[in-house]
Amino acid sequence: VKEDGKNNVQFYTQEMNQSLSRKSKIALSIREGLERDEFSVHYQPQIDIETERIVGVEALVRWHHPTFGMISPAEFIPIAEESGMILNIGDFVLRTACHQNKAWQDAGLDPFRVAVNISAKQFSKPNMAEIVTAALTESKLAPEYLELELTESIIQEAALAISKMDQLKKMGIHLSIDDFGTGYSSLSYLKLFPVDTLKIDQYFTRNIQTDAKDAALVDTIIQMARNLDLNVIAEGVETIEQLAFLKAKGCHQAQGYYFQKPLVPEKITELYAPVR
Ligand code: C2E
Ligand code: CA
Ligand code: CA
Ligand code: CA
Repeated sequence: VKEDGKNNVQFYTQEMNQSLSRKSKIALSIREGLERDEFSVHYQPQIDIETERIVGVEALVRWHHPTFGMISPAEFIPIAEESGMILNIGDFVLRTACHQNKAWQDAGLDPFRVAVNISAKQFSKPNMAEIVTAALTESKLAPEYLELELTESIIQEAALAISKMDQLKKMGIHLSIDDFGTGYSSLSYLKLFPVDTLKIDQYFTRNIQTDAKDAALVDTIIQMARNLDLNVIAEGVETIEQLAFLKAKGCHQAQGYYFQKPLVPEKITELYAPVR
């Protein structure tokens, strides 16, 4: 019994060391990874439910680490947020996405928006608007083809957040609230924030066929968005049944594996280039 106990303690200690060292290795290799082009951006189509045409793509960062292989952004983004490297990653994604969208337009694709995830740390930088302006100027992408996805976590200082959003809106950039419904936001923010789009989190979309409460929530969010003249998009749409539900409720757009997974830019070109 004693021995078992000891072994158990050793086992857990070792596990903890392993996970700690993976985390710190990740934290320490982000800068180098950016310099060595280990990061890339994939793009997931956003589809108009009525016309089934592409209206946008969401830019999603990918990291191929030399020893860990593919690391999920769900793992490294929180680490990058802690260390501050999220600013470097965010800048890379923003610039890459703007350049890529301009390249698609130059290749003759019908123009659509590119949506870029913005973390709370990035949003709270005083020079945030200048960074966005630089990415647009450099890439020559018109601001109307850029959307910034903001989560409810940026909303800690409401007055400051509103004035920044106003500034971005005046530049002609689209704003969306990502993961809507999962944060702690109050509904009054929807009145105060100059956003264009609500993104219904996949956490709700996932269960609309099986959970009456999730179905009711999704229905309510769609009707509320429509009543407020906001565009509404559901993410994580995987089945035709989910799509049918969203269509019946009047949801404008959908994004998810039912249509496409996040794709390399060449694949987007291939899928949506005009036929000649
Ligand atoms: P998110 O912003 O909520 O992005 C949606 C996530 O859902 C993506 O995961 C996407 O690949 C996944 N997804 C899309 N359709 C489906 C579906 O039909 N079913 C399921 N099960 N999943 C689907 P991904 O790419 O692993 O990204 C995870 C999270 O990492 C993102 O969640 C976002 O919070 C963060 N992230 C990714 N790229 C960036 C970035 O460039 N900057 C920042 N700040 N965060 C990022
Ligand atoms: Ca997002
Ligand atoms: Ca989301
Ligand atoms: Ca999410």
